[in-house]
Amino acid sequence: MPQTYDYDLFVIGAGSGGVRASRIAANHGAKVAVAEEYRVGGTCVIRGCVPKKLFVYASQFSEEFEDAAGFGWTVGETSFSWEKLIANKDREIDRLNGIYIRNLDRAGVTIIQSRAVLKDAHTVHLVAEGRDVTADKILIATGATPFKPESVPGIEHAITSNEAFHLERLPEHVIVVGGGYIAVEFAGIFNGLGAQTVLLYRRDRILRGFDEDLRIGLMEEMPKKGVDLRTNADIASIERKGGRLHATLKDGSVIETDAIMYATGRMPHSRGLGLEELGVEIKKNDAIEVDAYSRTSVPNIYAVGDVTDRAALTPIAIREGQAFAETVFNDNPIAVDHTLIPTAVFSQPELGTVGLTEHDAREKFGEIDIYKTSFRPMKHTMTGRHEHTFMKLVVDAKTDRVLGVHLMGPSSGEIIQAVGIAVSMGATKKQFDATVAVHPTAAEELVTLKEKWAPPAS
Ligand code: FAD
Repeated sequence: MPQTYDYDLFVIGAGSGGVRASRIAANHGAKVAVAEEYRVGGTCVIRGCVPKKLFVYASQFSEEFEDAAGFGWTVGETSFSWEKLIANKDREIDRLNGIYIRNLDRAGVTIIQSRAVLKDAHTVHLVAEGRDVTADKILIATGATPFKPESVPGIEHAITSNEAFHLERLPEHVIVVGGGYIAVEFAGIFNGLGAQTVLLYRRDRILRGFDEDLRIGLMEEMPKKGVDLRTNADIASIERKGGRLHATLKDGSVIETDAIMYATGRMPHSRGLGLEELGVEIKKNDAIEVDAYSRTSVPNIYAVGDVTDRAALTPIAIREGQAFAETVFNDNPIAVDHTLIPTAVFSQPELGTVGLTEHDAREKFGEIDIYKTSFRPMKHTMTGRHEHTFMKLVVDAKTDRVLGVHLMGPSSGEIIQAVGIAVSMGATKKQFDATVAVHPTAAEELVTLKEKWAPPAS
């Protein structure tokens, strides 16, 4: 007699990947339960992309008020209420959390509010309820958690992005530690909201993995907006003195501040789930090893999203969740392609990027053509702000195919989403050029770049 289980699928983690997988599997007729130890919606909705973007919007008004003068406006005295921002943000997050719960309910998925751990390959222990359930297939969608270097004395005084969304008050002075996208985004947020912001990064250039021109460009622009950007700098120890924090840097200098936020990486959330005991292969960085169909080394256990560290982005977790459910519950095998991922950094100014960096394209294709331009956005001809927009196309010299597009400037995230379609379709530079420009926009530069860039003669 075939073995029977309580569920066809048990999902651990109701974030971007887990929710999508649960709903699609249930739509295909599977009996599904999902366990969530914090809040349904996961990192992106509760303490990631969504509240972060709301904070970015909030932080941009200070510049808008200043820039308005160039267009004839006199803006009266302005003031900012952190409490109001947090309350309104929380209301919006509650609304989204409710939608996620309703969508799962509607699909017939059982939501269990509990931490879940594995007892064996088919048995899940629900910690909050003190009971076990069984399932034929198990999906690990537990995401990742922020990382603080425990070796730094006084690190307990520092926060991560998790706490930044719930600070009681906006710090007057803040240090953000890190050089990845979350660090630069939060530095822009705090700075725009009026905090004296220091961004510390231990290497010489922020945003490792991005095109060098974007890395350099953002490092030039952020200080113009007021961020005190210090590279080759790191904290050696932290002390609380009175109500303030004293950060001693490795060079011996001391910065007094009100808050220190670490954004130095996120660890896949795979430990303590009982996976090692079952023989599920886990990499050195705690990422769960999976095949192209998200199957782990234990055949009935799968994993999607940040816990697999393939590309830690919401749309990727969603795709992986969907592909898993289609493959396993609809007999429709889908392997997610991780090669061409358009993405934005909501820094100030914003970045958008898709495809290969100049460096990677040169390594892979040898001969490439570069087209790039840097200009003052039209708006700032009136505001007097010395901000630059930058655009770059990386083109395969042999086939004329556009291999990468890298943007810095207002709405780069919006622009790159649309350009990403052309790049993923394999568009050539000629096809970019054949596209009629939209005038006057910044994006029109992408279809009017004529001159190949040549390195300056030395
Ligand atoms: P998550 O969404 O993290 O969901 C995992 C869930 O599992 C969590 O709710 C957790 O509580 C739960 N869980 C963990 N262990 C257990 C357990 N044992 N039992 C029960 N429940 C458990 N991505 C973008 O694409 N764009 C952005 O702009 C962006 N901004 C970000 C900003 C910040 C500050 C952060 C932190 C992340 C951002 N991300 C962004 C990344 C994005 O949030 C993640 O890639 C995405 O949420 C991953 O989805 P997931 O399903 O893998 O995990």
